[in-house]
Amino acid sequence: MKTTNNNLTSKTDFIRQKITADLATNKNQAQVITRFPPEPNGYLHIGHAKSICLNFGIVSEYQSGKCYLRFDDTNPSKENIEYIEAIKNDVHWLGYDWKDNLRHTSDYFQQLYDYAIALIKMDKAYICSLTTEEMKEYRGTLQKPGKNSPDRNRSIAENINLFERMQAGEFEDGKLVLRAKIDMGSPNINMRDPIIYRIKKLSHPMTGDNWSIYPMYDFAHCLSDSIEDITHSLCTLEFEDHRPLYDWFLDTLNTPKHPQQIEFARLSLNFTVMSKRKLHELVENNHVNGWNDPRMPTLIGMRRRGYTPASIRDFCDRIGLTKNDTQIEVGVLENCIRGDLETKALRVLVVLKPLRVVIENYPEAQVEYLDAPYHPKDASMGSRQLPFSRVLYIEQDDFMENPPKKFFRLGPGREVRLRYAYFLTCQSVVKDETGQVVELRCTYDPQTKGGITPPDGRKVKGTIHWVAANHAITAEIRLYDRLFNNPNPGAGNLDFKEALNPNSIKVLNNCQLEPSLKTAELEKSYQFERTGYFCLDNIDSSPEKLVFNRTVTLRDSWAKKSK
Ligand code: ATP
Ligand code: MG
Repeated sequence: MKTTNNNLTSKTDFIRQKITADLATNKNQAQVITRFPPEPNGYLHIGHAKSICLNFGIVSEYQSGKCYLRFDDTNPSKENIEYIEAIKNDVHWLGYDWKDNLRHTSDYFQQLYDYAIALIKMDKAYICSLTTEEMKEYRGTLQKPGKNSPDRNRSIAENINLFERMQAGEFEDGKLVLRAKIDMGSPNINMRDPIIYRIKKLSHPMTGDNWSIYPMYDFAHCLSDSIEDITHSLCTLEFEDHRPLYDWFLDTLNTPKHPQQIEFARLSLNFTVMSKRKLHELVENNHVNGWNDPRMPTLIGMRRRGYTPASIRDFCDRIGLTKNDTQIEVGVLENCIRGDLETKALRVLVVLKPLRVVIENYPEAQVEYLDAPYHPKDASMGSRQLPFSRVLYIEQDDFMENPPKKFFRLGPGREVRLRYAYFLTCQSVVKDETGQVVELRCTYDPQTKGGITPPDGRKVKGTIHWVAANHAITAEIRLYDRLFNNPNPGAGNLDFKEALNPNSIKVLNNCQLEPSLKTAELEKSYQFERTGYFCLDNIDSSPEKLVFNRTVTLRDSWAKKSK
C-alpha cells in the first residue's frame, strides 16, 4: 500500500478517516476535491457554516486538495444576485477562499441538457404531460407502489422533438416535464421516474433568457459533482435516499467520474430555526429586522451581533461530525464566543442603567486620571486613564435600598470598591416625588486609591463599575435574548412563530460609556465589565450616536443565586 504524506489533519471523524484511507491507496490520484454548493435563495446560516468548515476545512488539512464554491442556481424563480454576493462575503468572512474555483450550476446548463438528450436517446427519459395532481397520484406512497405514466412509452423521436420544443419556448410552464425512466414500483420514491427538467420561462441571473427549461436539483447536482471531479461529495443525511438516484444517473450516463457521496448529520440548534423557508418568513413578516438582525442565526446577523469567525469555526470543530441527528444546545455556541473573546476583548467600564452618585467629600472641580489596564491578564493590551470626579454613574442594579445579607453591592451604610478607583460608602438616598431613588449621596476613602485595602485593614466584598458623569458618552445599547422561548420552535403541530420570544430585544437609550469608547472600532469586541461582550452595531452606529449590541452575557453568579 502506498502511503501519502499530505495528511495534516489531527481530526479523526468518519469522513476524515475515509479520506485518509482513500489517499493511502492513491484513490483519485491522491486528491481531495470537495465543494460547498449553496442555493442562492437566502442568506447563509450557522448550519451552512458547518458545511463550509467541513468542505473548505478538509482541503486545507490535506495538501493536495481544492474546494469549489458552487452556486446551485437551477431555480431562477427564487434565486438572485443579492444572495450570491452575500454568500461570497460570508464564506470569506468565515476565513475561507475558493481561489479560482468559483462555479455556478448554470455554467453547466449546456452539458446537462446534452446529458438529458443522451438519456432520451437511450430510452431512459421521456416527456410526461401529467398534471401536478395526477403526477402526485401516480407516484404512490411509501406503502403503495406508483403507476406508470400513460406517456411512458412515447417514442424516442417524439421525446426529442418535444424536449427541443420545450426549450424553444413552445409550451407554458407546467405543461410538460422530462422524467427519468426508472421504476415506478421502487420502494425508494426518489426512483419513481423523477422529474429531471421543467419549463420555467424566466430570466436567469447568469444565463439571461437562454433557457426556457431548467434542470431539477437531483439531476443537476450529481452531474455537476461529476463534471468538477469532486472526489468526496459531502452532504447532509436527508440525501442518503437520493444516493441511489445519483448513482443511477452517473452509471446510466457512464460519466467519466463518479464522486463518492458521504452523508453527515445537519446542524440543528435548540431555541433556533434554521430552514431558509422559516427564516424568509421571519424577515417577510417583520418578526425580525431583516436577514442581518442580530437575533438571526444567519452569519450576517451573527457577525453584526459580534460573533467572530474564529468562534464559529471553533463551534463547528467542537460539535464534530456524526451520522445521527441531534440537537445542539445554543449554550455551546455561546461558550465558543466567550472563549474567543476572553483573551481578545478590551475590558472597559460602561453603565447600562445609570444611577447618579455624588461623592460629598470629593472636591467639586477636581478630576483625577486613574490608570486602568485593558486586560487584567495581558499587559500587552495596554491601559488607559479613567477620569474620576465628584459625580459618577453606577448601575441601578448595583444598589438596593433594603438589600438582603448576601447582596455585596451598595445599600444605605454599605461600602463597596469602585473598580480601579476607591472605596465608596453610601450615606443617604435622594428620591423623586414617586418615591424612586434618583441619587445616592456617598463618601469615598482617599486612602484606598487604586482600590487598595486601607491602613485599618477594612475589607469590602463587592467591586462595582462606574463612569464619571461629566466625561461619559451617552449611547444606545441593545440587549438580545433568544429569539424563541421554546427549545424546539415549531415542534409537533405548533406554528414556529407562536414560539417567538416577545422579549428577545431590549433597547437601552441612556447608557453611559467611559470616554475611551469614543474611538470604538467596528468588528472589534469589548468586554463591558460585569455585563457582557459588546460590539458596535455595523448598521446603525455613527460617530454622533454610538449603538452597541450585546454579543453574549458573562456568567452571572448573582443571577444564579437569586434563582
Ligand atoms: P435549508 O433547508 O435551510 O433551506 P438547504 O440545505 O436547502 O437549507 P442549501 O443552500 O442547499 O440550503 O445548502 C448548501 C449546503 O449547506 C448543502 O450542502 C447543505 O447540505 C448544507 N447545509 C444546509 N443546512 C445545513 C445544516 N443545518 N447543517 C449542515 N449543513 C447544512
Ligand atoms: Mg437545498
